[in-house]
Amino acid sequence: MNILILGSGGREHALAWKIAASPLTDKLYCAPGNAGIAQEADCVALDLADHTAVIAFAKEKKIDLVVVGPEAPLCAGIVDDLEAAGIKAFGPSKWAARLEGSKGFTKDLCKANNIPTAAYQRFKGAGAAKDYVRKKGAPIVVKADGLAAGKGVVVAETVKEAEEAIDMMFGGGLGQPAWEIVIEDCLVGEEASFFALCDGETAIALASAQDHKRVGDGDKGPNTGGMGAYSPAPIMTAAMEKRVMDEIVLPTVRALKHAGAPYKGVLFAGLMITDKGPQLIEYNVRFGDPECQVLMLRLMSDLVPALVAARDGQLKNFDLRWYDDAALTVVMAAKGYPGAYGKGSVIEGLDAAAQVEGVEIFHAGTIFDKTRADGKRILANGGRVLNVCARGKSVREAQARAYAAVDRITWPEGFCRRDIGWRAIAHEQAT
Ligand code: AMP
Repeated sequence: MNILILGSGGREHALAWKIAASPLTDKLYCAPGNAGIAQEADCVALDLADHTAVIAFAKEKKIDLVVVGPEAPLCAGIVDDLEAAGIKAFGPSKWAARLEGSKGFTKDLCKANNIPTAAYQRFKGAGAAKDYVRKKGAPIVVKADGLAAGKGVVVAETVKEAEEAIDMMFGGGLGQPAWEIVIEDCLVGEEASFFALCDGETAIALASAQDHKRVGDGDKGPNTGGMGAYSPAPIMTAAMEKRVMDEIVLPTVRALKHAGAPYKGVLFAGLMITDKGPQLIEYNVRFGDPECQVLMLRLMSDLVPALVAARDGQLKNFDLRWYDDAALTVVMAAKGYPGAYGKGSVIEGLDAAAQVEGVEIFHAGTIFDKTRADGKRILANGGRVLNVCARGKSVREAQARAYAAVDRITWPEGFCRRDIGWRAIAHEQAT
């Protein structure tokens, strides 16, 4: 098969690594890709917002399957456009991608189908929203509808904080004024991410993970896209996974099919495991980044037939095998991230780092140094730059291997958290 991956981050590098290893893959392309992905695929400079250009490329290269990494092209309907042009694509349609694109849509779907989630109301204006907050009290959660790159959620500890968040969101504080916000009860428990592969009709469980959103050790400092992750999440026992499939994922797949917009692709459920059981915090319509990286390390089966089966509606009776090992990834970011950061600093020692047992390094934001004759030197080109990943018999072993590799990388302008996996390691020690 000729396969085209869309995206340029660590998630897409992990997908490229796994897809390139499949005996079914003849030729692999990635648009736009990065310096790490270039080891696995031919990188092509396509603008993902230009669907016509993506379709023209796919036709020219006789692409058999397009795998869409990030949410923006999915919400913009790239799968619909590719399929309309006769090109098979893995990912949800624009309509189904509203599970991530619109919090109000998802909350209403949960309510109509008895899917456990925090009690909520939708608001189009600040006055009624503030009245509701005053009536409910704090803590309370304020969310802007629409994609906000992880910045559209405020967990308010006080009514005043919630009122300020309402004014900020309707006042354009997120770039443009929110057209709608959702206010919901604050859930208490432990968070976990859960992934399922869906074919429009049914779904199979992939694996669970936990990520680290805050920039600093001890979960301090501002939120980021994710500074590290590990899989599996200890809280997601087999019994809990079954509950999540039965109470959350499968009812969602059935509801979308019933609504005439079957969901195909990866469904990423952000969960709060409360003392009443799993509750849905949010859906994403693609693999998490950096969760995908640890999932791909743990997946023993070939990914390509699974993606094709999901696209073709053939997941019933499909089985995926996983390594029992844990996997962990440490994100190395440019100093200053998630605020302003520099680009173009030199990264060395990657080959030596990759020699550490069980280690795989995925690139998230790198380019080749074009000023060098051999063009092989790697430069930082983003906020999150590298994912140093490792497998191990335990999260503790995976963590030790990942940090041993981090310590072989010479990049003075970069930093990482030093405590990725702390919760799972504490759990391992306790049991
Ligand atoms: P989201 O973008 O919806 O994933 O929200 C970002 C983060 O806000 C989540 O990972 C949670 O830590 C937190 N959060 C969102 N909704 C709630 C809620 N209802 N109760 C408690 N925490 C929440």
